[in-house]
Amino acid sequence: MVSSIVSFPSPFLMSSPRFQAPKGVHDILPDEHLYFTFIKKVVRHRCREAGFRRISTPIFENVEVFARGIGDSTDIVEKEMFAFETKGGDKVALKPEGTAGVVRAYIEHGMHMWPQPVELYYIEPHFRYDRPQKGRFRQFHQFGFEVLGESDPALDAQVIALAHKINLDLGIADRLTLQINTIGCPNCRKKYREDLINYYTGKERSLCENCQGRLLRNPLRLLDCKEEDCQILASMAPKFENAIDEECKEHYALLKEYLTELKIPFVENSHLVRGLDYYTRTVFEFWSKSEGAQNATGGGGRYDGLVELMGGQSTPAIGYAAGIERTIDYMKEAGIRPPNKDTVHVFLAQLGHIAKKRSLTLLNALRERGINAVGSMGKDSIKSQMHVADRHKAQYALIMGQIEVQEDTIILRNMTKGSQEILPYEGIVDVVAEKIGVKKFDKRKLWEE
Ligand code: AMP
Repeated sequence: MVSSIVSFPSPFLMSSPRFQAPKGVHDILPDEHLYFTFIKKVVRHRCREAGFRRISTPIFENVEVFARGIGDSTDIVEKEMFAFETKGGDKVALKPEGTAGVVRAYIEHGMHMWPQPVELYYIEPHFRYDRPQKGRFRQFHQFGFEVLGESDPALDAQVIALAHKINLDLGIADRLTLQINTIGCPNCRKKYREDLINYYTGKERSLCENCQGRLLRNPLRLLDCKEEDCQILASMAPKFENAIDEECKEHYALLKEYLTELKIPFVENSHLVRGLDYYTRTVFEFWSKSEGAQNATGGGGRYDGLVELMGGQSTPAIGYAAGIERTIDYMKEAGIRPPNKDTVHVFLAQLGHIAKKRSLTLLNALRERGINAVGSMGKDSIKSQMHVADRHKAQYALIMGQIEVQEDTIILRNMTKGSQEILPYEGIVDVVAEKIGVKKFDKRKLWEE
């Protein structure tokens, strides 16, 4: 009976596999997190300042939320969704973008009863089954904001201004151009769709395979195709200005007036349509000034019909989302290093049983005093512990061996100067705090945030 158990090879004897992160996804290592933390801080600060409140929607939703909310004929829904069936038979998908989930939540929680407009922001991971390449991943992060319940173009200008301000804070605004366009409302777009289909009919063979498929389903997308032949055809396509109605025209004119008032430079781009079905009127993107296929840091637009399409009351809305990984690329290109608050102030080296016991309480006391302290808890020699202190780039080391324990002293070593002094153990926390210049950690501060 025992044989069935012992017949399995021991897991320690099998050659162990080398696991790697799945294709298109990546770990965020500590150095990269400096950028993430900095971006989150800026976004949180600017959004809070403008009255936005944070929302998180689930990582996965009923697949219909995205099919309806993003549009069946979009690349995201057709090709890029991580959709699967749960054990209970529910069809769900990992969220490929933020707006559809926020709109679902707006309706589900009756946010139309809140003071309007409802202004929300998010910082979340998203998932798209994209072809992995530089700046394009299968799991990536976006920050974004949505304003629901107001149709005035002044709101469009404010959302763009908020995005622009964040770009300024991150030091990348001058590397980007703001591209804007209007794609009108469903009424004027209907006429424009017909104009486009008429224009492209008979020219299908000059279009790329993607555009041939899109022609009847989503002809506006043909305008922003990156293929050379499609671009040539798009440059001669009918212009939207001949189809746009008076109200949409005025909305666009006012947006431009407000952006000028806010001194936000922009470029009008009649071929900018954005990939998603739900946009109405204003669409915009921030493009890199340097050439490259994946060059938008973020984009957004107005989606006045989406809340109703998803089962809510008619509610105008506008939103924006930016890719965090791509934003980091631009920050790096600009030579921007976010502040590193992970510095180790003190490394505590110890030798012997009593020193180790003392170092446990000393580490606690140092940290309580607001000092970033790392301790070596192993049995290594002081020399090898000092190598570790070097690798941590610690400013100071505290060294406690058997002699120091006997004499109630401790050695304080300045790691940059290489000098050291023997000090009384009693009161050492205050001495170190003064040398580093840290203020006493005040727990009440946590409640002030
Ligand atoms: P979109 O709503 O598709 O325009 O996405 C907004 C922003 O998210 C883009 O401008 C990119 O910065 C970022 N983004 C979109 N898809 C990806 C991806 N697959 N990998 C990395 N970033 C992405």
